[in-house]
Amino acid sequence: MKRKTEIDKLEREEHLEREEWIELLTGWDEEDRAYAGERAREISHRYFGNRIYVRGLIEFTSYCRNDCYYCGLRRSNTKACRYRLPEAEILSCCEAGYGLGFRTFVLQGGEDSGYTEDRMIALIRRIKALWPDCALTLSVGEWEEEAYRQFYEAGADRYLLRHETADSVHYEVLHPSDMSLAHRIDCLQKLKAIGYQTGCGFMVGAPGQTGGTLAKDMSFIEELHPHMAGIGPFIPHRDTPFGKNQRGSYKLTLFLLSLLRIMEKNILLPATTALGTICDRGREEGVLAGANVIMPNLSPVAVREKYAIYENKLCTGEEAAEHMDRLQNSMRNIGYEITFERGDWKERQREKGKERTRQWNINMISCRR
Ligand code: SAH
Repeated sequence: MKRKTEIDKLEREEHLEREEWIELLTGWDEEDRAYAGERAREISHRYFGNRIYVRGLIEFTSYCRNDCYYCGLRRSNTKACRYRLPEAEILSCCEAGYGLGFRTFVLQGGEDSGYTEDRMIALIRRIKALWPDCALTLSVGEWEEEAYRQFYEAGADRYLLRHETADSVHYEVLHPSDMSLAHRIDCLQKLKAIGYQTGCGFMVGAPGQTGGTLAKDMSFIEELHPHMAGIGPFIPHRDTPFGKNQRGSYKLTLFLLSLLRIMEKNILLPATTALGTICDRGREEGVLAGANVIMPNLSPVAVREKYAIYENKLCTGEEAAEHMDRLQNSMRNIGYEITFERGDWKERQREKGKERTRQWNINMISCRR
């Protein structure tokens, strides 16, 4: 084991200096990964028991005005199959999902001008009116602050917007010049300020990623202190400029999941579809590395294959919402239980450094007196 010092410091102080991050992320071995996994599991158990939250994912549009170099739905990909679910069909997905037990729906899609602000607001209102006990998560990219506010007022509770990389030069490797890291971060800060439970995240092994850019990702997450974080391996799509690049490392993804759990102890952390796609045991090993959320696919079966952000994306078997029994079994086999609770993020005292902890303990003692 080469990096126990850094892993222990991360658990204690929830912070590493840039040089320490780079040491940790470039100099780890399998023993470090096993150790980080153990620490992460212990922390997950402390905060969440053996519960794994599920969210029903509805991929409601594959149209996108953006041209991200890594994504199969980029507007320049003329081979992509485009679909846009009508409202009624989205509501049917929710209805089916509710029947299966889901209490969180995630609406994810490209940045589709066919789904205008007004149309989104009407859809959100409708879903929240029909299923007021459910949480609604949006994952529909960058909008003006006013739109984010209106979606929130219409009833949306959570928002996923991966920052993709916290290094602005690397951001330009992954995106055309009409997109910027500054704008992405601005969106994330606004979402959080409006009151959304907010998630950021990145792809592991994205083209151009280095120990240095990953160090920035981890420090960025520390600073933003999001409620959720989505990380999964980059998987090439042949009809994109990165079609011949290598996929991200499975083991590094698992290691990073553990480090995120160790740093942001009560964060909601999905074992992503991408992780399940590159390895049969991806979901289980993701959970054993510290993940506590799974997002089965609730989209209409007929469109699932068309939402191809990368190739061979899993959408059947345990990935499919209609096979919750299989997912439940696979979780039970490793000692976990699927729960249909909404699983909202709960505020906690941030265990920042020894100083803060000591201060807090003293306050507790004086309170008791
Ligand atoms: N349009 C929305 C949703 C994007 S899809 C948005 O911009 O937020 C959700 C995530 O899938 C993206 O944020 C990206 O990190 C990931 N993704 C896209 N292409 C991918 C690929 N080729 N391999 C792995 N993950 C990918």
